[in-house]
Amino acid sequence: MADLETFRTEARLWLRANAPQSLYGTREGRFDGFWGGRRSTETDPDILRWRDVMADKGWTAPTWPVEYGGGGLSRDEAKVLDEVMTELELPPAVVGFGLVMIGPTLLDYGTDAQKAEHLPKIARGETRWCQGYSEPGAGSDLASLQTRAVADGDDFIINGQKVWTSHADKSDWIFALVRTDPDAPKRKGITFILVDMDTPGVSTRPIELISGSSIFCETFFEDARVPARHVVGEVNNGWTVAKALLGYERTMIGAAISGQMLGVEDELIEQARHYLGCPEGRLPDPMLRDDIVRAAMNDQCLNLTVERIRQSLREGQAPGSESSILKVAGTEAKQARWELAIRIAGQQALGWEGPGYTDDELQRTRNWLRSRASTIEGGSSEIQLNVIASRVLGLKFPGT
Ligand SMILES: Cc1cc2nc3c(=O)[nH]c(=O)nc-3n(C[C@H](O)[C@H](O)[C@H](O)COP(=O)(O)OP(=O)(O)OC[C@H]3O[C@@H](n4cnc5c(N)ncnc54)[C@H](O)[C@@H]3O)c2cc1C
Repeated sequence: MADLETFRTEARLWLRANAPQSLYGTREGRFDGFWGGRRSTETDPDILRWRDVMADKGWTAPTWPVEYGGGGLSRDEAKVLDEVMTELELPPAVVGFGLVMIGPTLLDYGTDAQKAEHLPKIARGETRWCQGYSEPGAGSDLASLQTRAVADGDDFIINGQKVWTSHADKSDWIFALVRTDPDAPKRKGITFILVDMDTPGVSTRPIELISGSSIFCETFFEDARVPARHVVGEVNNGWTVAKALLGYERTMIGAAISGQMLGVEDELIEQARHYLGCPEGRLPDPMLRDDIVRAAMNDQCLNLTVERIRQSLREGQAPGSESSILKVAGTEAKQARWELAIRIAGQQALGWEGPGYTDDELQRTRNWLRSRASTIEGGSSEIQLNVIASRVLGLKFPGT
């Protein structure tokens, strides 16, 4: 413990000496992390300097081995580092699916050559990754995927289509699930493969949302030739790798939300005082008081659960089906929080643009709408509940 406290002091001193002044207080706000990659258009010198100093220190991927661009920290030290960055309100220097999804999966399942090729670039924010799982006919029933990969010498030729590929148009690499044995039972004939987005035959088409923004793409593979050395794990055993990655993804979603929910009750109370015109004393609406207390309790439960699961990760276990607990609890709590915030703001929560609304109000409406997707991305709540019932609690479904 004393060592951890020494590390805390050293980390604080180092961060104070190296973090650009303009980034203090921006952990949630103007800048919440640099996604990087070859297509990045970031020009803010402080953001780029922050990326460089943190990557040189290995603290963009604090627990990864030093040889792969990480910091070689223990999970306890990494937790302390995160606490100090939160205290200083410093944003992570690099964010993205590389660090939280494919990186940890490569550490578990990648070859030495794959780790050496990809991990240092991910840690430095030099490559940006996207996830090619869902297809038009395979979402919740992911194992029904039809994108086909056929062996041809030292390569695979890939044909098919992915959908809902977040930020595919801004990414350099995609980790994709492809069917390599159409005759095997559906979970057995799948392979996990890494594809450079610049490969001839790979293209993306953004999907425009009603808001006008576009975070998703369709991703097409037309005779895309991909070296077989990019297969992660064994050919036809990609389902195992895919599930391991989902464990990291679902843990990340739940843990990120638990961080965002810290102190949510204070914020809700402040908003209620403002919109209900009640600057002090008890809030007049008992139902609202009840709901705010419930949100605070759910927040506490979520934080404790995240901490418990993080503890088992610190002891070296990869996240398994338990990650579905974090995913469903975090995303449902997040939705409830924004529903409540919208209820409190009343008609001031109905603005999308234009006069009559503050920037905070417009942002709140967007956050509320965005939260609707949280219980779908990374696997819907219904699917998480099925996983928890069957794999965590060991319940049997009728007819199984
Ligand atoms: C914001 C966002 C980002 C995403 N990013 C990516 C990405 O980067 N890469 C990627 O590959 N995918 C991505 N997705 C896709 C996501 O993984 C799928 O949307 C999700 O798995 C659900 O699949 P679906 O949309 O096909 O819905 P469906 O599978 O058609 O499900 C429709 C509804 O039926 C319910 N349902 C289906 N089967 C069952 C069952 N057995 N029991 C109970 N209920 C069931 C579901 O819960 C859901 O409510 C993203 C989605 C969102 C919303």
